Amino acid sequence: MRIFDPHIHMTSRTTGDYEAMYAAGVRALVEPAFWLGQPRTSVGSFVDYFDGLIGWERFRAAQFGIRHHCTIALNPKEANDPRCAEVLDLLPRYLAKDGVVAVGEVGYDSMTDAEEKAFTRQLALAVEHDLPVLVHTPHRDKLAGTKRTLDVVADSGIAPDRVVVDHLNELTVGVVADSGCWMGFSIYPDTKMDEQRMVAILREYGTDRMLVNSAADWGRSDPLKTQATGTAMLEAGFTESAVDTVLWSNPVAFYGKSGKLMLDPFPSDEGSAATFEGNSVLRGARA
Ligand SMILES: [Zn+2]
Repeated sequence: MRIFDPHIHMTSRTTGDYEAMYAAGVRALVEPAFWLGQPRTSVGSFVDYFDGLIGWERFRAAQFGIRHHCTIALNPKEANDPRCAEVLDLLPRYLAKDGVVAVGEVGYDSMTDAEEKAFTRQLALAVEHDLPVLVHTPHRDKLAGTKRTLDVVADSGIAPDRVVVDHLNELTVGVVADSGCWMGFSIYPDTKMDEQRMVAILREYGTDRMLVNSAADWGRSDPLKTQATGTAMLEAGFTESAVDTVLWSNPVAFYGKSGKLMLDPFPSDEGSAATFEGNSVLRGARA
């Protein structure tokens, strides 16, 4: 199984996760910029985080044979914190960098005016930089939040096929399917979507414009949920080609709109002895 995880926060995962993901077939991923689990206190905190996403984390993934890309944005949660607002002025510099394949995660968290302002401004940045957009949907009051999200996307003038609306479920998939936007599903171990519910959605709506991700981060999550979904699809009678569409071709088609995906396999001489600014992933390795 060839897997491209279109939403996973590797910064908070271990080298063991990278090894298990590679063994499961993961060869490429997108890491969206998000919050840290606790508030950032200054714009400098974003700068170091963004630099890590395009630098160290990309290098680290490469040591395990996985192509790392990222999306850059002011996330919905921190859009409410005036200490973070200035980061919007820094985004253009990052959106131009290699490996940055979209603007995201943007959207609503608690549906505030500050969130809407940051969301609108970042949709305009995506149009300006000719990049696709990853939109997060709120976990509470999901249907109303998703409908309002789609209105803001429509008002921005961005083409719907350049937008993925993520964290969908049975309640919200229909309105997004009708909008022409791509549909993203985060498969979690014990809450929200699981792989069986995902299979049922794929049966009803087909595989077109469908993205499945693990959204694994520092919370209870599982970086192998993409593989688990592929296996559940096969068990339910989907063909290998349908699994490949959902787990590989679709994310490649969506993030390929950036013109910045790097998917060629690593030459075999690249390995864990390599360094990034003098640091390697080795710790006390035997000589
Ligand atoms: Zn996320």
